[in-house]
Amino acid sequence: MDIVTGHVGWIEVVCGPMFSGKSEELIRRLRRAKIARKRVQVFKPTIDDRYSTDEIVSHSDTRMQSQVVQDAGEIMRYLDWRTQVIGLDEANFLGPRVVEIAQQLADAGKQVIVAGLDTDYLGRPFPPMPELLALAESITKTLAICMRCGNPAKHTQRLVESEALIVVGAAGMYEARCRRCFEPGIPKQEHFDFMRPEREKQQV
Ligand code: ADP
Ligand code: ZN
Repeated sequence: MDIVTGHVGWIEVVCGPMFSGKSEELIRRLRRAKIARKRVQVFKPTIDDRYSTDEIVSHSDTRMQSQVVQDAGEIMRYLDWRTQVIGLDEANFLGPRVVEIAQQLADAGKQVIVAGLDTDYLGRPFPPMPELLALAESITKTLAICMRCGNPAKHTQRLVESEALIVVGAAGMYEARCRRCFEPGIPKQEHFDFMRPEREKQQV
């Protein structure tokens, strides 16, 4: 509980693939908090300086002033304890301590809104988002539009070759794909043995 306002804190998570509107949704919520005359602070990791170093920017170019931090630990350095609402963009790049810090802030009566990728380019849960999802009061999963077929898309498809977990980029390097069109760099579904007709299997 916040000792000044008496408010009970909580954690809200907005997660999904790239292009699904996480930053837009984060900015929308933070704008509403400002309209409600709440004190707001926004943080993002240094890794994401694609468009701007002191703003969070969505793919549709909505923007909001933000503080760049090396990792979650640095949030405490810049935090004004009068702040009531704290936004964290690209939380999956803030390091493992983001979980402990989000918890601490929520325990101290802050409304913590966390946006981040829930899966990586291979479709695997992206740490530490699963832990945040388990600890949050509220979860919103945003979906993009599959660039192959137009269906709702939950995957971030990497279009360039790299084994690295993180390749920072946007249009041209990644696109949104649905479950069916996603190609995670491991055999496609039709290449799995159990998916192939019996007659084909015998030929191999
Ligand atoms: P995220 O933070 O999840 O990467 P953003 O909030 O930055 O997403 O951007 C969402 C915006 O991206 C949409 O409103 C739309 O204008 C644009 N966009 C580009 N590609 C797609 C796509 N494949 N599906 C949905 N929106 C897309
Ligand atoms: Zn598709």
